[in-house]
Amino acid sequence: MKVGVLALQGDFAEHLSMLRRIGVEGVEVRLPEELETVQALIIPGGESTTIGKLAVDFGLLEPLRAFGRERPIWGTCAGAIFLSKDAHRQQPLLELMDITVQRNAFGRQVDSFEADLDVKPLKQATGTSEPYHAVFIRAPIIESVRGSAEVLATLPDGRIVAAQQGHLLATSFHPELTDDLRFHQYFVSLIS
Ligand code: GLN
Repeated sequence: MKVGVLALQGDFAEHLSMLRRIGVEGVEVRLPEELETVQALIIPGGESTTIGKLAVDFGLLEPLRAFGRERPIWGTCAGAIFLSKDAHRQQPLLELMDITVQRNAFGRQVDSFEADLDVKPLKQATGTSEPYHAVFIRAPIIESVRGSAEVLATLPDGRIVAAQQGHLLATSFHPELTDDLRFHQYFVSLIS
């Protein structure tokens, strides 16, 4: 099994290191051909406008859309924005998930913060009951979830920070910047 990590911009190296730690082969993806060699794809955090523009320049927009109709894609932070159908502004989006996101939703005062989340499917998939300690950096909020997309986790005040739509996963936070391997294990469990 090979999992690709979109390596146009952002913290793709950290995702590759997490994949190594769970014993899964990870490869950098920059070209449409490289997409054909992987069973699933992670889109890292970074800057969603830059990732989108580079995806257009590299001829990856349509290949990524076609990939995501069949195979698992997980977007973290900027990656979650890129997966969404609506980010309230003009920027290249994959428009694969029925979610609307609000970029930089926490403002400057709380640029970065951490929070414990209750993520039920994660607990079921990994057989552990500890809360998930999530790291947020200039994070988006998932403002709304429609169609077959479901809420996976919320902050204590109810704001949505993780969603799943079948084999597509979006998290506002950065599991690749922690030592907790459970989200990567959960994502790999979506590969059938
Ligand atoms: N603020 C960035 C954006 O809007 C996302 C930040 C991140 O990925 N850590 O694209």
